[in-house]
Amino acid sequence: MSESDQKDFNVYVQDDIVGWVRASTPGGSSRGSLATQGSGPVTITTANGNEKACKYDELLPVSQKSLQGLRDMTQLEVLNEGAIQENLNTRYHKDLIYTSVGPLLIAVNPFKSLPLYTPEVMAKYATKAMRMLEEPHIFGTAQYALDRLNDTDTDQAVLISGESGAGKTEGTKICLNYITQISGEGSGEGKRVAEKIMASNPILEAFGNAKTTRNNNSSRFGKFFEIKFDEHDKVLGGCILKYLLEKSRVVHHHTSERTYHIFYQLINGATAEEKERYGIKTQSDYYYLGNRECTDPDEEITGEEFLNVRKALGGIDVTEDMQQQIMKILSCILTIGNITFAVETADSCKIVNEDVVQKVATLLDVDMTVLCKALTERTMKGRGSIYKISLKKDQAEDARDTLAKELYGSLFDWLVNQINAQIDTTKGKRTMGLLDIFGFEVFDENSFEQLCINYANEKLHQQFIEYFFKLELGEYKEEGIDSKDITFKDNTECLELLEGKMGVLDLLAEECRIAAGSDGNWLTKLAQGRGQHPNFNQGKFDRDAVFRIQHFAGEVPYAVRGFLEKNRDTLYQDLQLLLAMTKNNFLLDVLKAGGRCDLEPASPKAGKSTGRNSSGPGTGSGLSKMVGAQFKQQMQTLMLKLSKMQRHYIRCIKPNSKKVADDFDGRMVLEQLRYSGVLESINIRQAGYGGRCSYTDACMIAIGDSALDMTHEDQYQYLQRIMEELKLPTAEYAFGKTKVFFKQPDGVQNFAQSLGAM
Ligand code: ADP
Ligand code: MG
Repeated sequence: MSESDQKDFNVYVQDDIVGWVRASTPGGSSRGSLATQGSGPVTITTANGNEKACKYDELLPVSQKSLQGLRDMTQLEVLNEGAIQENLNTRYHKDLIYTSVGPLLIAVNPFKSLPLYTPEVMAKYATKAMRMLEEPHIFGTAQYALDRLNDTDTDQAVLISGESGAGKTEGTKICLNYITQISGEGSGEGKRVAEKIMASNPILEAFGNAKTTRNNNSSRFGKFFEIKFDEHDKVLGGCILKYLLEKSRVVHHHTSERTYHIFYQLINGATAEEKERYGIKTQSDYYYLGNRECTDPDEEITGEEFLNVRKALGGIDVTEDMQQQIMKILSCILTIGNITFAVETADSCKIVNEDVVQKVATLLDVDMTVLCKALTERTMKGRGSIYKISLKKDQAEDARDTLAKELYGSLFDWLVNQINAQIDTTKGKRTMGLLDIFGFEVFDENSFEQLCINYANEKLHQQFIEYFFKLELGEYKEEGIDSKDITFKDNTECLELLEGKMGVLDLLAEECRIAAGSDGNWLTKLAQGRGQHPNFNQGKFDRDAVFRIQHFAGEVPYAVRGFLEKNRDTLYQDLQLLLAMTKNNFLLDVLKAGGRCDLEPASPKAGKSTGRNSSGPGTGSGLSKMVGAQFKQQMQTLMLKLSKMQRHYIRCIKPNSKKVADDFDGRMVLEQLRYSGVLESINIRQAGYGGRCSYTDACMIAIGDSALDMTHEDQYQYLQRIMEELKLPTAEYAFGKTKVFFKQPDGVQNFAQSLGAM
């Protein structure tokens, strides 16, 4: 098939029948017409006149309404992947980026500035009566949540998800802005807090976002923003909870990506005097910045951005003095990356550039000799004695990078704490949560980070499914329809595999506690214990050992290499002690925020006193955070919180991977609809009665507008008679109080066709 052909057929249209070719067949998206019809092979004529044979059962029915682009896709008589994608496509090309599926809002990233967020638009959605008439909008969702907060006295949560670059963070900002505008107005406390909440955005983005291949401003952490309201529904305060900052990006990034924005901002925005004071050089001077000049005009960062961040920092009471200290730490991190080592003997190494180490020692306010030792030696404990061993070159490089990551991670935590100290309040009566968290991820190579992210998505998915299933059962109940036999398979099994007793995370933590633990041994135990689990699939045992997990969104292969190390996230004791020796009180505060402040001398108890696990006897002692276990705890806390809130779901969709406007890649969209559970929410509907329409609509299909003059009872009698005449099996439909329900998703269409054939 030629390139244009591939792009050019998927949907066929003939008279009123519209069809769809399943995504599993080769082909992209766009419309053609059906040349032949029947249940066997059919021929499709594509828009450019080419013909293509395919099987009839590869096609899914798509109703005409999809091509018109309905606001609420639950209004489609036929609701399937094809119909949804086509509906979104139609709307997208009209710049209608928001579409609802019942209570769910789908937002397709326009990758261009649309006049959708002006004060005028805001005002429209702030009025209940007008909101109903308007197009679906993220303001509408935010306002609805505000209304519910007010009307029901229940905490609300807006959950925004989607893949990287889909628009989650922008969406969160739009929501936050709306809420603070609508509910933070007036003067006094509300306004002050609203301003501080808004000021936190540029700070979190500078320190927590970076350019990746998927998004030029990709958040490398997850966040849950809690906004607290007083009894008059005015903003009173807030709190940010952050999840999993990608610390590894500080020391390494792919050549087509970048490290955190703040480093480039610092280099371009610090004054000559500051540069002199902290030894700040240019981009090409730093190993952690790829030792390269900025050549891509897209990547250029102006000094002004740095000034904006500093202004925002001022807005959350980070004093000028503290800002200087932050610059010092940032410069220190970059300088650490320039320390190089050379092999000395087979088991040891030496520092090549002591002048650089001297600079680091000065910036850290620590002793140069201690720093050199901490980078090239490790204190060990075992059999009652404490001794030192030399580090090999690659081990020393790891130690160096760990130091940089630790400093950055702690600085980020410090900033979050600082923001929270400014906005948090115990007085709030009600809470509105905004969740901006990484969506389901599957790359060519998946590691510990993807496991955590996908685990989080399984947790969220479970709640999502539960929500929709309850909603659906609620409608049956309201309509008086028996629903006791309707069941829906959820993802409990997969979650049990991940977080259950002796599950993936459990066994990982256990293996991390064993001195001689290894990635390979972990996999062996996993395979022994969980080999039979339906969601577990063991890969080959070779150097790149892989296991596969069947997630709700698809199967993901995980390469085990590096899991233990990433989970342990150990800061070896020599480095801890080094940092504890700093004479810089600000730095000590920062380290405390990072959670590794319990810096005590080597002793067999190291680590225990903090409730964390030491990495065990015989290894270099240090404080380990057990990232996986912590994250599991965080997720469980979050889920508990969310379970008590009324939830509103926004699914962000990235229409193309080129990050450009007016380009809708149907297959990519479809994949995201699957990952995000949108299709699942429809499946839930189809598990019971897939199709439905009101008595009035059904009568209108049969007799046109005169149905409008009939009483409800007459409509009911009439429809009953028709069903009997049509000889529809009674298991295929059910009469609710106001609607007729059909088992089949295209039940309404079949009904209409049968009527036509009568
Ligand atoms: P995510 O947080 O999901 O990774 P972002 O929210 O950072 O993605 O969005 C990525 C980019 O997409 C933004 O930098 C912006 O250019 C564009 N974008 C996202 N949402 C919108 C929107 N509503 N209108 C215009 N552009 C948007
Ligand atoms: Mg983001």
